[in-house]
Amino acid sequence: MQNKEVEAILSKLPSAVSELECPICHAHQFVPADGFGADAIYDAPTEAIMMVGPFVNAIMLVCENCGFISKHAIGPLVNKKSSAE
Ligand SMILES: [Zn+2]
Repeated sequence: MQNKEVEAILSKLPSAVSELECPICHAHQFVPADGFGADAIYDAPTEAIMMVGPFVNAIMLVCENCGFISKHAIGPLVNKKSSAE
């Protein structure tokens, strides 16, 4: 069973994402990761990595052919009005 929170966020992705083409292998088969990812944000390029945030939380779609990950930040999706795409 898929993570219900992942399903809720997936429902907010624009319909164009269903036609997503992998930029590496050009396949069109993506599956959602069964959870969320987070990328740390730093103020400077040489700043030491500290896993204390801030983070951009993302839903991840994985190419079934080559494993490329397409990340979509969750913030804009959860704040989106249902009719806006
Ligand atoms: Zn691919």
